[in-house]
Amino acid sequence: MSCAAAYEAYKGLLALQHRGQDAAGILTYDSKSRMFAMEKDLGLVASVFSQEKIEKLNGFMAIGHTRYATAGGDGKRDIQPMVEGIPFGLGMVHNGNALNYYSLKQELSENFRHQLLTANDLEVLIHYWGHFLMNGQPLPTEKTFTFDNIKNAAAKMFETVIGGYAVLGLIAGQGLVAFRDPKGIRPLALGVKEENGVKTWCLASETIAMTYLGYQYLRDVEPGEVIFIDTKGNFQSAVVKKDNERAHCMFEWVYFSGAESAIDHQPVYGVRLKFGERLGAKARTAIEAGEIRPDVVMPVPDTSRTAAISVADALKLPYREGLIKNRYVARSFILSHQDKREHAVELKLSPIVGEIEGKSILLIDDSIVRGTTSKRIVSLLKKYGAKEVTLGITCPPIRHPCFYGIDFPDSQGLVAHDKSAEELAELLGVKKVIYLDEEDMRQAIGVSKLCMACVNKKYPTAVAEGEHFSKERQKARAAG
Ligand code: SF4
Repeated sequence: MSCAAAYEAYKGLLALQHRGQDAAGILTYDSKSRMFAMEKDLGLVASVFSQEKIEKLNGFMAIGHTRYATAGGDGKRDIQPMVEGIPFGLGMVHNGNALNYYSLKQELSENFRHQLLTANDLEVLIHYWGHFLMNGQPLPTEKTFTFDNIKNAAAKMFETVIGGYAVLGLIAGQGLVAFRDPKGIRPLALGVKEENGVKTWCLASETIAMTYLGYQYLRDVEPGEVIFIDTKGNFQSAVVKKDNERAHCMFEWVYFSGAESAIDHQPVYGVRLKFGERLGAKARTAIEAGEIRPDVVMPVPDTSRTAAISVADALKLPYREGLIKNRYVARSFILSHQDKREHAVELKLSPIVGEIEGKSILLIDDSIVRGTTSKRIVSLLKKYGAKEVTLGITCPPIRHPCFYGIDFPDSQGLVAHDKSAEELAELLGVKKVIYLDEEDMRQAIGVSKLCMACVNKKYPTAVAEGEHFSKERQKARAAG
């Protein structure tokens, strides 16, 4: 018996904790006892798992998840991974949103008499995955099961499920499977570790998990690609749906991913430095026009630190930390209710008065989404004596909802939705708001095919599906 895979998954989840703080879970499959083992609960990774719990998770394959609810609720019922007994025995986790969840759910109920037990789109994915693996044929046995079964099922998933999703699954007695939506909206990276001639594979939303576990980052899973690693460790992969219109989420580089990660081999830290250089050039234009006169450049901790350093370099101004973050308070943006967010902002930042008092501050933040954090921080800085605040944002205005797994589904909740930079400056109480523009972002990221729908409304999938999903989800949330 070995819990080595579960222990690796646990460490990987610790490295990915910033991606979701609502809940965590790990599922393993043990080929000897032919049993799944699972632990999952609400809370942070370190509080969900104890040594004792990990030791019960036997098997050489494991999948894990940290939850940030963008579909379903934030209660116990909707925590991932999820498992189905038939066919084979399937376990699954995913990152993203299936936009046609509500119509797929209805089809499952009407055509297959499936009664869903959760409000999580993953449950629908797992049912369809099982259905496509069976393919209306006699079920392949463990011996007749081949990669063709996986490829055919993945191709059908890509035709059926609309949205942004990166999926990991276990198939009892067969192996581990991974696939990524045909536009590559949500990230998924592949790594390998070789010890004594034996290869171990790792798939994760971010490369930071691989670095942490000693895996070598090989590449990102291609959009429309499916990967299968059988119980003997044999690796097979194929792109089963080609879509030339890739749309990698730009917000991963802006905010979501850890600075230590790379996406499509573009290092997040390096990209954020470039955001800062370009934002610095825009701030210089405003300084030369006499619109602002900053004494210092200051980050909103933590994500914006990297960009603020290069803004300061570009402007030859001192970089100063005027706000210190309490690390034990959850990231305010990804908390799921406004009251939780307000509370988190209150708790999470403490001022260094000597660095604020009497200063004209160029404050750098990664994005303005709801405006909650920005407004609170500006008033904190003013309360502690800032002479003037200018806001530099390493992203264009977020004006439109995201349907693909970042939780800003309703444009009314986006503070920049109906406001110019000048109106926003007035609302937030700052001298000026300076945004990065779309072209600057593309250049800095170095990936031409990006999703920027929350900025430019050019959605990579049909807007009607997204709007329907968003509306239904809001109704479900309102109903509790
Ligand atoms: S809409 Fe914005 S946040 Fe959502 S996937 Fe596209 S770029 Fe990312």
